[in-house]
Amino acid sequence: MAAFDWFWRAMGASGGRDRRRGRATVGKAGERARDIEALDDAAVVTAARDSLRERGGETVVADEPTFLAALGVAAGRTVGLRPFPVQAQAVLRLVAGDVIQMATGEGKTLVGAMAATGFALTGKRVHVITVNDYLAGRDAEWMRPLVEFFGLTVGSVGEDATAEERRAAYACDIVYGPVNEIGFDLLRDRQVTDRAEEVQAAPDVALVDEADSVLVDEALVPLVLAGAAPGTAPAGRITEVVRRLRAERDYTVDADGRTAFLTDEGAGRVERALGIDSLYDDEHVGSTLVQVNLALHAEALLHRDVDYIVRDGKIRLVDASRGRVADLQRWPDGIQAAVEAKEGLDVTEGGRILDTMTIQALMGRYPMVCGMTGTAVEATDQLRQFYGLGVSVIPRNRELTRFDEADRIYATAAEKNRAIVEEIALLHGEGRPVLVGTHDVAESEQLAEVLRERGIEVNVLNAKNDAEEAGIIAEAGDLGRVTVSTQMAGRGTDIRLGGADEGDHDAVVDRGGLAVLGTSRHKTARLDNQLRGRAGRQGDPGLTLFFVALDDEVVAAGGAGEKVVAHPGEDGRIGEKRVREFVEHCQRVTEGQLLEIHAQTWRYNKLLSDQREIIDGRRDRLLDTDQAWRELAERAPERAAELADLDEDTLVAAAREIMLYHLDDAWAEHLALMDDVRESIHLRAIARETPLDEYHRIAVREFKDLAQRAVDEAVTTFREVTVDAEGAHLADGGLVRPSATWTYMVSDNPLSSHGSVIGSIGNIFR
Ligand code: ADP
Ligand code: MG
Repeated sequence: MAAFDWFWRAMGASGGRDRRRGRATVGKAGERARDIEALDDAAVVTAARDSLRERGGETVVADEPTFLAALGVAAGRTVGLRPFPVQAQAVLRLVAGDVIQMATGEGKTLVGAMAATGFALTGKRVHVITVNDYLAGRDAEWMRPLVEFFGLTVGSVGEDATAEERRAAYACDIVYGPVNEIGFDLLRDRQVTDRAEEVQAAPDVALVDEADSVLVDEALVPLVLAGAAPGTAPAGRITEVVRRLRAERDYTVDADGRTAFLTDEGAGRVERALGIDSLYDDEHVGSTLVQVNLALHAEALLHRDVDYIVRDGKIRLVDASRGRVADLQRWPDGIQAAVEAKEGLDVTEGGRILDTMTIQALMGRYPMVCGMTGTAVEATDQLRQFYGLGVSVIPRNRELTRFDEADRIYATAAEKNRAIVEEIALLHGEGRPVLVGTHDVAESEQLAEVLRERGIEVNVLNAKNDAEEAGIIAEAGDLGRVTVSTQMAGRGTDIRLGGADEGDHDAVVDRGGLAVLGTSRHKTARLDNQLRGRAGRQGDPGLTLFFVALDDEVVAAGGAGEKVVAHPGEDGRIGEKRVREFVEHCQRVTEGQLLEIHAQTWRYNKLLSDQREIIDGRRDRLLDTDQAWRELAERAPERAAELADLDEDTLVAAAREIMLYHLDDAWAEHLALMDDVRESIHLRAIARETPLDEYHRIAVREFKDLAQRAVDEAVTTFREVTVDAEGAHLADGGLVRPSATWTYMVSDNPLSSHGSVIGSIGNIFR
């Protein structure tokens, strides 16, 4: 078939048995499609079903050409898209469980929906995981006709969904949802005392869009479920003692400003003031030392009007990367309370963490994970190391004609920033659309201000409103358009040349297509490439260009004080190859550091996530059987006899509620304790083992007691609490589950830059 010629060429260049086989299959699928096209809808569905098998819990495509042809024909009939051969190829790799690399604009939404449909046709429940609410809703509605064609159901969840809506969505064969909502729902489900309250049905497959962003960049972001409970503020006395400590003499702050350490002198001062022998004695490590550390953190690391503001008697956090007050964020438990104590405010009730889970741990719960992204190759190591996932590179539908210019390197940021503004003005003068990727909100707004002063109209995007931003970014390829964006704003939206309607397509092509500028290199080449990918979709012309200054964060951090000798020209520009190589080297160093931070943090998280799985197993048994009742009746037979008049269902439910209450309570306590241990571990460890070993030792020891303690406490409650036809009156004994819970993500992510603050720091582009 002539139409496939370019495809053979694209595929032929790179060998590999899978590739050649895939190529042959896709070719056959093209032929098979002619037969399938002649069938009515019902027969197409049957053909698709018959091409699939379920083997050992896995979806196996037994007849690949028929499967691809049937799905392709269905896609044509329903959403009006006939999959390109490369898309067909990608579908097979997804069903096989890989992360596929497929460039921006190649049609991953359709690919994902086809693969999800394949899984669902073999009875699997699929979560298609997106990066935000807007994309979940958009993709579910867009692909709905395709999924429903096969008699399958599709739904989506978003922040505003009610429990009822969530339950309905999760009951579907295919559910689109943002990763945090799916995680929060799981956290809430792990608190129920009755199966009917759960919203999620157990999923089989996670199909992750923007897989590197979710699986690597966001992997360690903790999702937190918190409930009202008394605060854990450092006692007023401790706050006072810590307030009198002096930097350098009594404590030091590490280079990246994330941790404060007491010096020996500082520890001595605190011990004398509190009248105790040693903060590091076992009796103080779990309590006093933790409170001292919290107070020190609040005192030394969190600054009023930079990290937070005080408004209406409350602490309001300032989001560093957005530079504005963040509504839904708190610091981890004790820190929030410590800052309130420091400011002399009422310590808020609340902030008891009930449960928490990283996105990486969330992914670990799916029997199967696969994914798609424009930049998977650079994440190969992480995907293999943390998820056991392989990467398949899918060739482009049309050859890339984009031009990636070499970095423009400057001696100083001031010279670089001037050059950025000049370049934008130049490109804009030609009527060429320009998309600028900046690092944070402050930078994007300063750049926009300077451009506006030069009479250039600018759209600024900074991840505030995903739906609105999608509309703006869709127009970013229009004639003369200048769009300034922070890293991931508007992601997932297609940028067509000449505007969303492609009205000025040819005029933009004549001018060389979309120009994408980066104001500095990111901490990883992968993020650079994500930005580059915005230009050159589907064979479009385009340009990408990064600006670098030798005092950029990546260069400074990766160079670690190394100085490179350069000979800048009059405008500060440096042309030397050696310097270019040095910049690359610095980025590779920061990439290595990030990988190490990831591996290290995961080592801390993994044990708790394994322990949580054990708790879940126990919860499942308590929820689904009468085990709670049997255990309690065995341990307190006299009490069981007293209650013998009540009917069995009531007793089973009451026992279940008592048992689960104490199990969940013990787990929350375990989390709080381990959090404290982690805060103070570096202090303890100085004299002893490595921090990680010490942490593990304590976690294992504490966990051993947890189950037993939960049962013991449940027995006590069972003996004391009123149980009648209405069930167990736990509230009478003060044993109340929080009436309100809230969820948040902890934003302190090693991958995000710390930089910007509110207030005036001048405009760096001037
Ligand atoms: P990606 O997620 O890979 O960046 P999208 O799924 O957003 O890409 O699709 C980009 C654009 O390509 C969409 O406008 C979509 O309609 C179009 N597209 C996808 N597949 C096809 C196809 N087979 N034929 C024509 N257009 C397609
Ligand atoms: Mg996409």
